[in-house]
Amino acid sequence: MSEIRDFVMQQSFFNSHEHQSACAWKWEDIDHGTFWGYSWSDMETSQFPNHNTSRAEQLLALSTTGYGQAMEMAMQDILGMSYDIEKENEITQRLQQWVQERQGIDIHAHLFTERANCTAIIADVNSGIPVTTLETLTDETVPDYVRFALRLGRKGLFADSDRSEITALEETWDCSLDTLYILEQAIERYLDACKNTGKLTCLKIGLAYVRSLDIQAVDVMEAAKCYDLFRQGKTQEIRLLHDYFVHIQLRWAEAHAIPVQIHTGHLAGNHKDIRNGDPANLIPLIMQYPKVCFDLFHGSWPWGGVAASMAKEFPNVCLDLCWAWALSPWQTENTLDEWLGAVPHNKIIAFGGDSWSPFATVGYAKQARIGIANCLERHVQRGHYSQKTAEMIAQRIMSENGYAIFPGFDSSSAS
Ligand SMILES: [Zn+2]
Repeated sequence: MSEIRDFVMQQSFFNSHEHQSACAWKWEDIDHGTFWGYSWSDMETSQFPNHNTSRAEQLLALSTTGYGQAMEMAMQDILGMSYDIEKENEITQRLQQWVQERQGIDIHAHLFTERANCTAIIADVNSGIPVTTLETLTDETVPDYVRFALRLGRKGLFADSDRSEITALEETWDCSLDTLYILEQAIERYLDACKNTGKLTCLKIGLAYVRSLDIQAVDVMEAAKCYDLFRQGKTQEIRLLHDYFVHIQLRWAEAHAIPVQIHTGHLAGNHKDIRNGDPANLIPLIMQYPKVCFDLFHGSWPWGGVAASMAKEFPNVCLDLCWAWALSPWQTENTLDEWLGAVPHNKIIAFGGDSWSPFATVGYAKQARIGIANCLERHVQRGHYSQKTAEMIAQRIMSENGYAIFPGFDSSSAS
């Protein structure tokens, strides 16, 4: 193993994006599915229309993708065996045994801080309801290395044109949201209260899952009219409201110096319009809010070069490889290569697991370390970077940059 590879494999991660925060895990209920991570969507794409592909054949077909490889890495790391469709019961049994042998140990902390070697995690956890509750942020089972990304709405406020989000928000905040003005005030109160817990580190916008990122300026009177119609069930055309709430969030972020994570690039799952992930559509917004730090997610894959150009052009854009290693490991190595040459490296964040399972995160972290090591090793071998420079880059992109960009973490726990 080369010296730089050894260094990268030992270096801890600032993990910029996860969908878990260590609470509410029932270890006795976990089964082989906990290793799957995103592999289920490659299972779906491996099935041609009108073909009757077996599960075993599908699993074999995805074993060479980033998703499949990360799953294998997690299995090997934790159970020391390969995933075998014929042995799913055995995998579940061995996993249960693994848990049994760790009675009294904080398993989540063990997986995150020891196996995946992450010293900080940003959690984005609202799935069932449109906002993360204050109780979630202050839950005493949440460890101190976790801070939260807040997302308004499941993907964006009313992104699904779902009026039930209004009722859910009214219940969560215990108030009626009769007008746009009242809703705006409630959002501001909510964000302020979250910030005051000391557990909020950034906002998160996931609108690309339902539409493109060309956010327009919106007149307040028009937005108020649109909200009234939407509340009454008289319109589903609320793109204008999405735009309005993005501006509300960016203004709040600007006033409180809170970074904003934005989903760009490929979309998780299947059958979605991936054109929505083009990061170039964000340029007018990035220019309009020069004091807001925009964290572009997922290497913007397959728009990694566009994202690089944006981060080179604008001081308020940083680049984030969360989930990217699993999406396309070799291209992400090339993307990191490109970014290191084009963009000051203090703007690059090398990893986020983007997973619902800490077992899957172990695989994603290993996969990312291998990719980072491959990239830096090439640079050292070609004489582009000295060993010392490569180590400094690894330390920064894997850990220090995250602490510098996102507020509220205790950086003394980094190593
Ligand atoms: Zn995510």
